[in-house]
Amino acid sequence: MREFQCPSCRHAVTFEHVVCANCGDGLLFDPSCIEMTELSLKQSCRNRDVIGCNWCAEESDPYCGSCRLTRTIPNLGSPRNIMLWRRMEEAKRRLVYDLARLRLPLTPGDGAPVAFDILSDETSPILTGHLSGLITLNLAEADDVERESRRVAFREPYRTLLGHFRHEIGHFYWELLVNGTTLQAPFKLIFGDETQDYQFAINSYHGRFDRSYDRMGFISEYATSHPWEDWAETFAHFLHIVSTLDSLAGLPLSLDERSRQTLTDPYLESDFEALLALWMPLARGLNELNRSLGMSDAYPFDISPAVKGKLHLVHMAISAFREQQKSAGASVAKVFAHAQ
Ligand SMILES: [Zn+2]
Ligand SMILES: [Zn+2]
Ligand SMILES: [Zn+2]
Repeated sequence: MREFQCPSCRHAVTFEHVVCANCGDGLLFDPSCIEMTELSLKQSCRNRDVIGCNWCAEESDPYCGSCRLTRTIPNLGSPRNIMLWRRMEEAKRRLVYDLARLRLPLTPGDGAPVAFDILSDETSPILTGHLSGLITLNLAEADDVERESRRVAFREPYRTLLGHFRHEIGHFYWELLVNGTTLQAPFKLIFGDETQDYQFAINSYHGRFDRSYDRMGFISEYATSHPWEDWAETFAHFLHIVSTLDSLAGLPLSLDERSRQTLTDPYLESDFEALLALWMPLARGLNELNRSLGMSDAYPFDISPAVKGKLHLVHMAISAFREQQKSAGASVAKVFAHAQ
């Protein structure tokens, strides 16, 4: 994500800042113009004082465009749960931002908007997942120790809150961008037959003893479980790529003309090859930076030619949807309104 500026002193601030570290003024993110505004100019989200949500409230709604998508909040009986919920919403705002930049709606044509249940598993187990536009997240995933121990137990190279959100929303967009469209046949060819029994596939994935998998064909081990999971994993990676390229845009680097053009808005770059041409060296550079700091790889994945083909289909599906919306006369402003 690119950098923001404090409206009072022009100091650089991040997306999550509630107060400017330089002048101390309160900050308010306005998703309608994707900028930080002064706190006095608009109503803040009702969750500002509870969990530090720095977005402005929607018109005729006490909550912001991200918080209002949360249908169920966890039990707030303990300060720990409030802290974990705060982290969840922080990651979710990044997701909502991504989708607005991609001009993808959070409401399917005729249905209800996508909704989130963020639940603590104190009384019964909570499974993170997606079902017809409802995304459920286990609050425990916001606890670093918990999440890291699950990452190790599942032998995953990467497990983050933002990754969960980007994966789960991928299922929602399969319905919207692929299901019943002209891309369904290419999807089957590239990702496999999605009509195979989902529950059976997931159960056998979890029962698998041998954890080796075809690394040339899939971005992650979990992607091998079912074509829908492969799509969701690939969709999440597409978001990792455009969002990270967007962060690159603000760095003082000398880049060639074509790269600069891509970075004016990687979310809307129409040439998939141009995105990947920038991403591959950036991912290697990011990992090298991390290793120099004694940390593990920021992007512990290899994009094989087959995975590249899958990412390309995600890009095609998003672009095709956007084109369709454009020709259907949906103005940018309207799509943005949906995406909030
Ligand atoms: Zn300031
Ligand atoms: Zn909010
Ligand atoms: Zn999934």
